[in-house]
Amino acid sequence: MPSPKSQKIDLNTDYPCPCGRKGRLVPIVLTEAFGCNRCQQIFVVEKSEYVIEQLSSTYPYKKAWVWTGTRWHRAQTGLKEHYLPIAFLFLIVLPGIWLVCVLNFFPDKLFLAIVPVVLLELLALIQWLAYRR
Ligand SMILES: [Zn+2]
Repeated sequence: MPSPKSQKIDLNTDYPCPCGRKGRLVPIVLTEAFGCNRCQQIFVVEKSEYVIEQLSSTYPYKKAWVWTGTRWHRAQTGLKEHYLPIAFLFLIVLPGIWLVCVLNFFPDKLFLAIVPVVLLELLALIQWLAYRR
């Protein structure tokens, strides 16, 4: 959802580049995108026409901005963007630490260590199936 102060992005308007290097955004002919004349980054205008998104293969998360009329404002990336690393932490790292701890202190209680992990993974699977779109 665009915030009230964000403005529609016009491909015929001259915008500064959000990279902060005093670059200008130059419209790329026949596309819904801008290119920066300084940092050489490409910014695609989203379908809503309120958000530009940086095309980048090096940055793990999407970078997006909204135009407030005078400057670019970092758009909310939302929880979904960070969902994968968080899920990874909870499903792989934490059970891993748990397993190592339990097996260190109670090497004969493998069953005890595995049951909570299996339950957690099952719970996560159910959540994932429920929220999958
Ligand atoms: Zn730039």
